[in-house]
Amino acid sequence: MIEDVIIIGGGVCGCSLLYELSRYKIKTLLLEKENDVADGTSKANSAIVHAGYDPIPGTKMSRYNVEGNTLIEQLCADLDIMYKKIGSLVVGFDETDRKSIEKLYIKGNKNSVPGLQIIEGEELFKMEPALSHDIICALYAPTAGIVAPWEFAIAQTECAVKGGAKVEFNAEVTSIKKENGYFAVDTKKGEYKARFVVNAAGVNSDIVSEMLEEKHFTIQPKRGEYYILDTTEVKLVNMVVFPCPSKLGKGVLVAPTVHGNIIVGPDSTDCPREATESTMDGLEYVAKNALRCVPSVNLRVSIRNFSGVRADAGLEDFIVGESKCIPGFFNIAGIKSPGLTASPAIAKDVAGMLLDKGLDSTPNPDFVAKRKIIRFKYLSDKEKREAIKKNPLYGTIVCRCETVTEGEIVDALNRTLPPPSLDAVKRRCTTGMGRCQGGFCGPRIMALIAKYANISQIDIPMDKEGMYIVTGRTKRRRCVYEK
Ligand SMILES: Cc1cc2nc3c(=O)[nH]c(=O)nc-3n(C[C@H](O)[C@H](O)[C@H](O)COP(=O)(O)OP(=O)(O)OC[C@H]3O[C@@H](n4cnc5c(N)ncnc54)[C@H](O)[C@@H]3O)c2cc1C
Repeated sequence: MIEDVIIIGGGVCGCSLLYELSRYKIKTLLLEKENDVADGTSKANSAIVHAGYDPIPGTKMSRYNVEGNTLIEQLCADLDIMYKKIGSLVVGFDETDRKSIEKLYIKGNKNSVPGLQIIEGEELFKMEPALSHDIICALYAPTAGIVAPWEFAIAQTECAVKGGAKVEFNAEVTSIKKENGYFAVDTKKGEYKARFVVNAAGVNSDIVSEMLEEKHFTIQPKRGEYYILDTTEVKLVNMVVFPCPSKLGKGVLVAPTVHGNIIVGPDSTDCPREATESTMDGLEYVAKNALRCVPSVNLRVSIRNFSGVRADAGLEDFIVGESKCIPGFFNIAGIKSPGLTASPAIAKDVAGMLLDKGLDSTPNPDFVAKRKIIRFKYLSDKEKREAIKKNPLYGTIVCRCETVTEGEIVDALNRTLPPPSLDAVKRRCTTGMGRCQGGFCGPRIMALIAKYANISQIDIPMDKEGMYIVTGRTKRRRCVYEK
């Protein structure tokens, strides 16, 4: 079977393209080396929908950022993805910072970012009372937002697969050849063929490119580390608070998350590919810089540290488009921040390039544009009663910290992209994201996965394949969900 398009990599870029192509009668296959989508950088970032004042005017990055900011709002509404447009502030402590803020304001206007304002003095502290009183001014961007980044990839893939697109997991691409007008893509699972190939392999995008092309870029991975604070801190800040950017990037932010936590980070240090450990030095740097902007940040209520790795190609722009030497081969590479924000705009652009190459633009009659899921804790009391009446499983709370019901977990297990691991359930249902970090709900969710996927609990990984949780039974007592 020859596909029209093979997409390599199931991060937000690959998944947005899969969704975009599913609008048409195009045979698309996504190859992902892990067991789920959004299991790389797309699950471990600041989760900010950037307004677009940062990229250099005239670059692809600036256009995709501003377009993506608008597209994300609509996509999140259509696909029921958690998103809030809360605005952002870039704060300045002295006259040098004021100059950078003025430059950002000018750049933002050149990039057509709506509503930018420079705010001074008391007005600023009325908007964001927790700011350090050493701050003298800030750039306010009302169109910035926050989102659940992994949901973005999951929701788009679920709809695309429902509409006929295909996904192969645990299919790491190891070589690509162009023969007789087709691409033969070899993976750890076997060979796949397609007329067009799109490389969206994140921190490995240079490796995948070099399977076919002359070397024309190198990814230098850059790790960013974070604290996630307990929901007790949710009122700390109303907006995303950034310092002025530096050569290290946008700096350490303090922001609410869509799940009601506070996120603090990241730093930026060179690291090996996919090196997502947390380090003392990184976290100390993050703490020091966050306290400078928001002195009341209480890092003692941190419930989780994590880190993500940027695919930095050392350029001021993204690498998006058809290869100069291999027709039919496309790169979506070097997608560092604001790649999450930009991803739907990149996908639209690349889908357009593929259609221009002669792919069938007939609308797909099975295209699934929208998705709706139940999030029990956000329902009104009346809606909760009705939901339980329809499905009594919504009446059993499995994750007590985040109030997630058995019904929601079973819904996720029955959707088109069933979660293959405990963390994959977390990404779909928010289980284990609270203070106990899955201590209570973990074993119960494992029992549910085992029951609905009809597998042994021994075969359920924490996240990626091989990250086992249990190795066998030590007691005879059965869990409540087992028959
Ligand atoms: C610390 C940090 C903070 C950030 N903050 C923000 C932010 O607030 N807002 C924003 O807009 N952007 C942000 N970004 C950037 C954003 O997260 C990325 O640009 C985006 O997630 C990149 O998506 P992607 O699909 O290109 O790559 P990825 O998410 O890395 O996906 C690539 C996929 O390819 C797979 N893969 C790799 N090699 C192979 C292979 N050989 N075969 C098959 N599959 C393969 C990987 O497993 C992975 O799933 C941040 C990034 C970091 C690291």
